[in-house]
Amino acid sequence: MSETPATDWMQELFSSIEVGIVVLDRAFTVEVWNQFMENHSALTSEAVCGDSLFTHFPEIDEKWLRAKAGPVFDLNTPVFLIWEQRQYLFKFGSTRPVTTSTEYMYQNVTMFPLLNADKGVDRLCMLVYDVTDQALGKTRVEQLNEELKVMSRIDGLTGLYNRRYWQERFDYTFKLAQRRNKPITALMLDIDHFKKVNDTYGHQAGDKVIQALAQVIKKSVRETDLAGRYGGEEFAIILTDSDSTNATKVAERIRALSEAEVVTHEDDTIRFTVSLGLAEYCPDCHSSMQWLELADQALYDAKQNGRNQFCIRTYDASQGGQR
Ligand code: GH3
Ligand code: MG
Ligand code: MG
Repeated sequence: MSETPATDWMQELFSSIEVGIVVLDRAFTVEVWNQFMENHSALTSEAVCGDSLFTHFPEIDEKWLRAKAGPVFDLNTPVFLIWEQRQYLFKFGSTRPVTTSTEYMYQNVTMFPLLNADKGVDRLCMLVYDVTDQALGKTRVEQLNEELKVMSRIDGLTGLYNRRYWQERFDYTFKLAQRRNKPITALMLDIDHFKKVNDTYGHQAGDKVIQALAQVIKKSVRETDLAGRYGGEEFAIILTDSDSTNATKVAERIRALSEAEVVTHEDDTIRFTVSLGLAEYCPDCHSSMQWLELADQALYDAKQNGRNQFCIRTYDASQGGQR
C-alpha cells in the first residue's frame, strides 16, 4: 500500500473544502488562494499569488481592512467580519440567483494569525464562509415576523385595525391625553337597522355594507386618526388633535357619505345609514373605559333620537359623570 504524501492530501483538502482560504503577509500580498476562491473570483491562484490583494479586488476598502486586520498582526488575536455589518468582503456573485433575490454572496470572514518559528506573526489566514442561505433565511424570517405583526393588528374584512389593537392604542392615547394639553375626541358608530340588511339581502351583502362603510371611514379621517372595527358593524375612531366641535365635521362627513353610498349585491342595491357618538377627552375622566363609555352613550342617544345622526356627550363630574 502506497502512502499519500502529506502535501498531496493537504492540497486535496484545500481544493475540496467549501470555504475560501487566503493567506496574506503583512503587506497584504496573497500567498495562498484556494479552489473556492478561484471558483468564485474566476482568478487562478497563479494570477493572484504574489500580488497585493487590493490590486485584484478594488471593492475592498483598503484602509478599513488594514485597520480590521491590525489586531491579528499586532495582538495575535482572531478577528471576525460578519455579514450583518457588511454583506461581503469579496464581491462574489450569488450562487443562487434563480431562487433568491440577492445578487451577491453573503460572507462571514475569520482572520487569524499564522505564527512563524519565533512565534511572531508574519501572515494571517483568512477563511471566507458563504452564508447566503443563512442570511437570506434570517432576513426572510424577520420580514415574515414584521408582516405577521402588521397582520395581527388588522381586521380581515375591512382592513381597519382590529378591536384588540385599537383598544391598545386607545388606552395609550388616554395616557397621552392625561399629559398633553391637546384635545382628542373618541367617536363610535354603528350601522342602523343592520339586522334588516342581513335578513333582507343575506349575510354576504351585509359584509359588503360593512366594507363600504370602512371605505367611507378611511376617506373621512386623517392619517393621524386611528380607525378600528370595534365589533360586527360597530366602529371606533380616535380623532387626534380634535375637540368635539372639530370632530363633528368628521362625524357629519361619515354620516352624509354613508347615506349617499350605494352598495350593489347581485341584483340588489342596498343603502344604509349610521349613527355616531362623540366624546372629547376630559381630565375628569378616570379611565379610558369611562371615556369610551361616554362616546357609546352618545351613540345610544343618536339611536334614541331617530338614527342617521351624531350626538355628543360631555363629562360632568358634578352629575356623576355624564351629561
Ligand atoms: P341598530 O340600528 O339599533 O343598531 O339596529 P341593528 O339591527 O343594527 O342592531 P345591532 O347593531 O344590534 O345589529 C348587529 C347585527 O350585525 C347583528 C349581527 O347579526 C350583525 N353582524 C355582526 N357582525 C357581522 C358581520 O361581520 N357580518 C354581517 N353580515 N353581519 C354582522
Ligand atoms: Mg346596528
Ligand atoms: Mg351594533
